[in-house]
Order: sequence, then C-alpha cells, then structure tokens
Amino acid sequence: MAEILVTGAAGFIGSHFVDELIRDGHNVYGVDNFITSTPANISHLDDEPLFRFTERDITKGIEFPGALDYIANLASPASPVDYYEYPLETMLVGSVGAYHCLELAREKKAVFLQASTSEVYGDPEVTPQPESYWGRVNSFGPRACYDEAKRFAEALAYTYRAKEWAESRIARIFNTFGPRMRKNDGRAVPNFINQALAGEPITVYGDGSQTRSFCYINDLVEGLARLLFSPVTTPVNIGNPNEMTILDIAEQIREKINPESEIVFLPLPENDPKQRKPDISKAGKLLGWEPKWALEDGLDKTIEYFKSDRPTA
Ligand code: UDP
Repeated sequence: MAEILVTGAAGFIGSHFVDELIRDGHNVYGVDNFITSTPANISHLDDEPLFRFTERDITKGIEFPGALDYIANLASPASPVDYYEYPLETMLVGSVGAYHCLELAREKKAVFLQASTSEVYGDPEVTPQPESYWGRVNSFGPRACYDEAKRFAEALAYTYRAKEWAESRIARIFNTFGPRMRKNDGRAVPNFINQALAGEPITVYGDGSQTRSFCYINDLVEGLARLLFSPVTTPVNIGNPNEMTILDIAEQIREKINPESEIVFLPLPENDPKQRKPDISKAGKLLGWEPKWALEDGLDKTIEYFKSDRPTA
C-alpha cells in the first residue's frame, strides 16, 4: 500500500484516478481548490477510510505532514472554455503549482507524476503523434496559457529528474470523456450529449472535419496508474487512437439520443488543432496498456450519467 497525494482530486480525471488508486488499496490524500471541479465528484468517498481531502490552491504552496511515496499533479483547468476564462490560474498551476509539488516530492523522496496533454503537440503536422514529436504550438494565442503551462510543467519534471532532485513521470493525456464531466464545460462530448438531450441544436465548430480520438475515462485512469507505478521516466501518450471527425461523433451522439436533432455549424475557435491521434505503442510496450472500452459503450455510460440527477453545471 502506497501513500499517494493527488492534486486536482475533485476534477473529472482526478476523481476517477482517486477511485482507481483506492480500489487498489492505496492511501490517497486529495487536494483541490474547486476552480473548475466540484465536491460532488468525491462525495461518494465521504466515509472512505483510504481517502482524506484538503481544500487548497497549490499555487499558494503545499505542505504535508506525513510520508509520501507518490505525488500526482492533476490540478488544472483543462477544457478550452475553462482556460479561456482562467488563463492566469492555468499558467500559474502549471508552473508554480507544479513547482510546489516537485519541491514536496524532493522533500519526501516521492515519485512525481505530471498530467500533461496532447496539447503539447499543438496543431500537429504528423499523425499519429509519437512522444518523440516536438509539436507545433503557438505561444502567442488563446490556447497558449494551457499549452505552455503544461510544456513548462514537463520541463520542470525533466529538470528535477535530470538533477536527481525528484523522480518523475509524464502522462500526455489525449481527449477523454465519461461521467463527472461538467455539463457546461464546453467540450465536444458533453456539449453534444446535453444539447441532444435538451432538444437543442448540436453545435459543430468549423465544418466538423477536424479530428479527435476519444478515450473512455476508465481506460485512461488505468493507464495513468500503470505509468505512476512504472519505472518509465520519459513522456508517455495515454489515449485512444480511435480517430474520428467531430462531425462523425456529433452524428453518432445524435443517433443515440435524438435523431431529429439539428446540427448547426459555428465558427471554428482560433488555433483549434486540425487533427489529433495518439501513437500509443510506447504505452503498449512499456506499460502493457491499451484502451479496452468501445466508444459506443463509453458514450452510453456518459449519456446515462447526464440523464441522471447527479450532473452539475
Ligand atoms: N467542438 C465542437 N463543438 C462544441 C465543442 C467543441 O465542434 O460544442 C470541437 C472543437 O472545436 C474541437 C473539438 O470539438 O475541434 C474538440 O473540442 P474539445 O473542446 O472537446 O477539446 P480539444 O480537443 O479542443 O481540447
């Protein structure tokens, strides 16, 4: 049993990751400031002896009294709509927040894991994207606050490892979906599902020919856990290579919920990547991991969630 601190523990990915670690019998300490997350995501753990929670903004520093074996930094606004609203918080958590986590990892001799992103590849010219691709990122645009913060966090993790101050792991997370996403977080899957459920038009940006590859949350957190406990110190893509156009996923969701729904085309946000598909051969080889959930089954679970009473705004 390991002692594990998880920042961003009440977020969509963070809360599922906490569940995964608890299922495996670890002691988990969650931290979150609820900037884009909700206590409802961890309320099922209220009576869980393996879980303790502290409300805290990690950009203000982070202290911990006991021993720690691992620190997983999943704290950050992560949907484009969220980081447009909180650009400074996003930049600070990826830089100062990650720095505080790494200093704590150094003090505790803990392994540090940074949740990074496919956004480090920017609007990629190669497909699928292997970890060796350096990316095509605009440092002076609306997505820069997120992309550059995550790239900075990777550079910090690299530096602490190279200097032998702290061991580190880097997960490059691709598009993920599932229960506990916020209804209004602005991402494609929750938008399309909730629009179809409400009988509103489904909003496809641009002509919908841009591609994404969607990974179901259960697969994602399993990959994250495998990476955390592995000896792999270089970045690893975690995602599902099942690439499709945005129009395609909009149509699939429409068919499932309300085939009568209208699809409307709205302007494409600036710097919206044209294509995105992970090369996951490294995760396969080094972690023995690959996603198992079919898109269809993941969508059914997510639709069921949004139909229930639980979803928050
Ligand atoms: N998108 C869309 N309609 C929406 C929300 C998103 O067409 O209501 C598009 C968005 O422009 C992007 C893709 O869907 O091309 C995925 O967007 P999302 O916000 O889910 O994540 P991203 O991959 O851009 O970080």
